[in-house]
Amino acid sequence: MKALNEFDRVPLGLFPTPIHRLANISRLLGADIYIKRDDLSGLGLGGNKVRKLEFLLADAKKQGAQVVFTTGGAQSNHAMLTAAAASKIGMKAILILKKRGVTDCVGNQLLERMLNTEVIFMDTDDYADIYAEMDRVGTSLGVPYYKIPCGGSNALGSLGYVACAYEISGQGVAFDHIVCAEGSGGTMAGMALGAGICMPKTRVHGMMVDSDPFDVITPRLMCETAALLEADDGAMRDNYDLRDMCGPGYAIPSDEGNEAIRLMAEHEGLFLDPVYTGKAFAGLIAMAREGAFRPGERVLFLHTGGAGGIFAMNGFPGTDVTR
Ligand SMILES: *Cc1c(COP(=O)(O)O)cnc(C)c1O
Repeated sequence: MKALNEFDRVPLGLFPTPIHRLANISRLLGADIYIKRDDLSGLGLGGNKVRKLEFLLADAKKQGAQVVFTTGGAQSNHAMLTAAAASKIGMKAILILKKRGVTDCVGNQLLERMLNTEVIFMDTDDYADIYAEMDRVGTSLGVPYYKIPCGGSNALGSLGYVACAYEISGQGVAFDHIVCAEGSGGTMAGMALGAGICMPKTRVHGMMVDSDPFDVITPRLMCETAALLEADDGAMRDNYDLRDMCGPGYAIPSDEGNEAIRLMAEHEGLFLDPVYTGKAFAGLIAMAREGAFRPGERVLFLHTGGAGGIFAMNGFPGTDVTR
């Protein structure tokens, strides 16, 4: 098997990210809950895409690209972080985003203005249209360009979360469970594969926040990532499961997600986002209430970021307090 340091990487983040225990939430849920702070990954407002971009942009550079394209919805954290990373390493990012979600100059759209990023909206639901448009724009520019898929979720990007699994295994606490959001698949695939390699006793729980067929996407991406690593067959294990936490739809807040956001804010002073981490943490809360974590087991929640999207929210439900 290849070592991760055999792959090119551009340094973008501040690693390792911290792990700490959530004392109040542990008490409330009757389980031993820790958090991995990939929301503090050190670029932009932090988030999981930084780890993927270290591998993807190294590949773009190696191929001589001057322009990097990526895509997502209007409030894509991944697209914003790709632009931030491109700024840092002297490349130009062009974002071709689906005209879906909040396109106003708030949240990640606001941050993209600050980054002086070129943003093109396309009124389509099909990423094939967007990748074709990348080729059209790229060819017309006449400079070498590189296309990063939605969420950075290909095998190379997923290596970022194999690296994260290695990082966790060296941080001094052994975990029985790791819980993370699954939106385009790379984080979960990398984490499940990485855990299979270096934390064989740990189960990884993917909380699906979109309605794509992740039961197919996850093992396929794990296989492709394992092939890139030249890992042996033992690396792919039956060490993960998936749970539907999408609720009313991708990027539409759910009651459970809002409850999780409120719980984390009120009891730990930390913020989760409505699209990914709120719904993922709601999955952890549901598991705790179902008794899925046995006494003495340690649970790690992966905070994958998403701060930018919080500021595209239209209020927050709850008690109206008049002062
Ligand atoms: C993209 C994203 C995720 C999901 O990660 P995938 O690798 O796309 O499945 C989770 N949380 C946040 C904040 C994200 O931006």
